[in-house]
Order: sequence, then C-alpha cells, then structure tokens
Amino acid sequence: MRQLSNYINGTFQPAHNGRYLPVYDPSRGQVYVEAPDSDEADVAAAMAAAQAAFPGWAATSVEERFEVLMKIVAGIESRAEELALAESLDNGKPCWLAQQVDIPRAAANFRFFAQAITQFAAEAHDMGSAGFNYTLRRPLGVVVCISPWNLPLYLFTWKIAPALAAGNTVLAKPSEITPLTAFLLAEICQTAGLPAGVLNILHGLGPTVGAALTAHPQVKAISFTGSTLTGAAIARVAAPQFKKLSLELGGKNPNIIFADCDYEKMLATTLRSSFSNQGQICLCGSRIFVERSLYERFKTDFVQRVKALRVGPPLAADTQIGAVVSQVHYEKVLAYIDLAKAEGGTILCGGAPVVLAGEFAGGWYLAPTVIEGLSYDCRTNQEEIFGPVVTLQPFDTEAEVLAWANSTTYGLSATIWTQHLNRAHQLSAQLEAGIVWINTWLQRDLRTPFGGTKNSGVGREGGYEALRFFTEPKNICVGY
Ligand code: NDP
Repeated sequence: MRQLSNYINGTFQPAHNGRYLPVYDPSRGQVYVEAPDSDEADVAAAMAAAQAAFPGWAATSVEERFEVLMKIVAGIESRAEELALAESLDNGKPCWLAQQVDIPRAAANFRFFAQAITQFAAEAHDMGSAGFNYTLRRPLGVVVCISPWNLPLYLFTWKIAPALAAGNTVLAKPSEITPLTAFLLAEICQTAGLPAGVLNILHGLGPTVGAALTAHPQVKAISFTGSTLTGAAIARVAAPQFKKLSLELGGKNPNIIFADCDYEKMLATTLRSSFSNQGQICLCGSRIFVERSLYERFKTDFVQRVKALRVGPPLAADTQIGAVVSQVHYEKVLAYIDLAKAEGGTILCGGAPVVLAGEFAGGWYLAPTVIEGLSYDCRTNQEEIFGPVVTLQPFDTEAEVLAWANSTTYGLSATIWTQHLNRAHQLSAQLEAGIVWINTWLQRDLRTPFGGTKNSGVGREGGYEALRFFTEPKNICVGY
C-alpha cells in the first residue's frame, strides 16, 4: 500500500509513532493509500522547524516571496493533470470538476497572494501640526492552517498562500479524509525552493494532531475552515491563549427565486448551486424559496433536470454527480433524508443510494434529492446536510421569505434571483449572510471579503483581509 509522508523542515517523514491511517477512494469504497497518523511529537518537530525558519522568511523582501510563490504556481500548473486525478480519487468528485475548478483555483490562490503582497501597504494618519502616525504590519510568527475535505487543495492553498506571502511560517493540516493533494503540494514547494521549515504539512486526525496544533502555545494565529462544531472547539482552546482566529464554518444557504427572474439562467444556475460537488460546497443553496406564482413551473422543470443528472464514476467524462466523500458522510446524508420524511417532507426525486456496476459497486453514490412540503423551521431546513439534498418552499411576500431565510443559526451566503433592482438591493442589505449573490452564484473575485456571520464563522478571508489577518499592526505616533 502506498504511504504518504509528513513534510517537516523540508523533508518527507513518517509520523514519529510509525502509525498510519487508511485513506479511502470514495468511488469504490476501498482503501487505496495510507497517511501518517501524526500526534504531538510531530507537531513539536514541525514547530521547531517553523520557529527556526521564521526569522529568515520574515526578513525576505516581498519580491523574493513573490518569486518563490510564483514558482509554486508554475509547479501546480505543470502537474495540474496529476493533481486533478488525485483530487478526484481522494474526494470522489468528477475529475473534470477538479480540472476546471479545484486545481486552477489552487494555482490562482498562490498567484493572487504572490501579487497582492507586492501591493499591500500600511496606513498613515496625519494629525496636522501635531504630528502623524504610521502603521507597521509585520508577520505574526508560526501560524496554523486547517482545512476540510470538500475542496481539499483549493481551500488548503487559500489559507497557506496569504500566510506565506505575509512572511509567516506555517503548520498546515489537510483533512485526513483527503490528504493526497496536500502531500503533492509539499513536493511542489520543495521543488520550487521554498526554504526548509517555512511550510510544514502534517497528516492525521483532527482530535489528535489537529487539536495539538491549535493548542500549541507558540502558535500565533489559526485559520480554520470546517464544521461549526469543530470551530467552536478550536475557539474554546484558542481564546484563553489570545491567538488570532479566523473561522470559516458551516452554512444553510437560502436561494430566493422571484417570479420576475431570468428564468433559464436561474434554472441552470440553481441546478449547479444545489448539486455541484455533490452538494458538498459550503456555499451551496440548500433551501430554495420560490415565489408562489412561479412555484409549480419551477418545481416541474427543476425536478425534470435533476432526474436527468448523471450519477457516475468520477473519471467518466459525462458524470455530473460523483461519489460523496466517505461512508460516514453518506450515512449522515441518508439519515437526513429519513428525517425529512419523518418531518412530513415529500421526496420529489432521489432520496436513495445509487449502486453502480462492477468495480464501483462499493462506492458511496447518492441520487440528487429534492424535497418539498417541509416547514421553514423543521430540522431538515435548519441543520447543515452538506450533500446532494435541497428543499423547495413557496413564499408569498418579501417579508416572509426574508424571515425564513434568516431563521437559521447560520449566515454564510445567500442567492437572490430577480430583475427588480430595488428589491434585490434591499433584500441583500437585510439578509444575515457574509456573501450575497444577485442573479449569479459562486462568482468569485479573490479581492473581496469572504466569510460568514452568526454560526458560519468569525473573520474574513480574501484580498487584503487575509493579509491583515496574517500580520500584526503596530501604530507609531510621531509628535512634532
Ligand atoms: P471538520 O470540522 O470535521 O474538519 C475540518 C478540519 O478540522 C479537518 O482537517 C479535521 O481533521 C480538523 N479537525 C477536526 N477536529 C479538530 C480539532 N478538535 N482540532 C483541530 N482540528 C480538527 O469539517 P469537515 O472536514 O467535515 O468539512 C465540512 C464542513 O466544512 C462543513 O460544515 C462545511 O460547511 C464547512 N466548510 C466551510 C467553508 C467556509 O468557507 N465557510 C468551506 C468549506 C467547508 P479530520 O478530517 O482529520 O477530522
């Protein structure tokens, strides 16, 4: 069995304890590789390397950091096909999706922050005849980046790139469910000439190595993307140690459709915003609210298109829905479908596993599922399912749909479909969400602030927000 390694101080190493964890190929339901089952001893080694590397890396000029980060971009691009295959194998997503979205975005993350750091400027505040202030922004030291399994390399690099660009040294942990592309990134960074100890990648379980990373007293900041439950556990550990914390957590996003929308664009986009990546994107619109006069037409057309989506093996070019990431997750999603039925929901399509033939018979495939007839406040409509499951609800007034949209504990993103300019802007302002899309979905400009309100997180990533997070401001006041 192939074994992955940790990347510590520029070298590839097994975990100190010699243990490994099985990693599954979700498309077949079989173990295909093993990853180190790291623990505190590995965190200690990685911390020593990161601390030793920090003064040198922090002292490099922004041009030097730009150069090495752009070599990482070139490395990702030159191995793009291999990375896409690896991502698809590890995660179960269609390979074309990894080719078109995940891997190009990983390269774009490094390119964006390589360039951004060369443009990042600190503030000055003039006090007229009394004097002036200027603000220095310095790297923090050793920081931790922890990412989930749904967009493995995409989200891993979204954290690591700004942390490195700002001059920090990094301890990073991918999800143990999807470690492969993080391992390949270590190879790319080594080849690119990133100095030893600047980026250290540890594999292993959240409650062991993840917890050891976040609890380490020398860690200055934690950038975490994952579930709200884990985010809360990390916050409990980090807060008394006064670590900087950026938490990107779960979502239960409303997709609000008015009768005056551009119907065909809305329908095609809603299909994507419901089921892309098997619905395993924190930004998927899992609660679809449709103005009553459009409801029956939408329901008929949407269900017809959902039924036509092809569930298949990730490498098949015509697969639209691949496998969900793990058996545990597959069972969780099925349990939510049972809950929806128990709560009085009607399954309009899907609602069951899909068993593929031959070598894929053991894979974790689910039919895309559409449910109606549930109240806005039932558990199915309040809790994050994070799979290929959406609910439909008709609404009558803006006030009603706004209240329903804002009724969950989450506040990550929202989508509005309407041609009515005032309504779109007024609703956007009132929705409790960090990100609102009007007549589009998942259209991203990496300069914009990205993150959620309420239980969807604390802090913002993206653009200068990320560079501010990964630096410490120091104000210096000069009196005349
Ligand atoms: P988890 O919270 O289970 O895990 C996320 C990461 O944290 C993994 O690397 C995990 O390791 C690690 N981890 C788990 N426990 C601890 C701990 N006690 N201390 C430190 N690290 C720990 O989330 P999932 O991987 O299941 O990801 C899905 C979730 O991520 C969903 O809720 C989704 O909404 C959210 N998400 C949010 C996004 C956003 O931008 N807001 C974007 C994408 C996803 P391991 O895997 O080994 O357990």
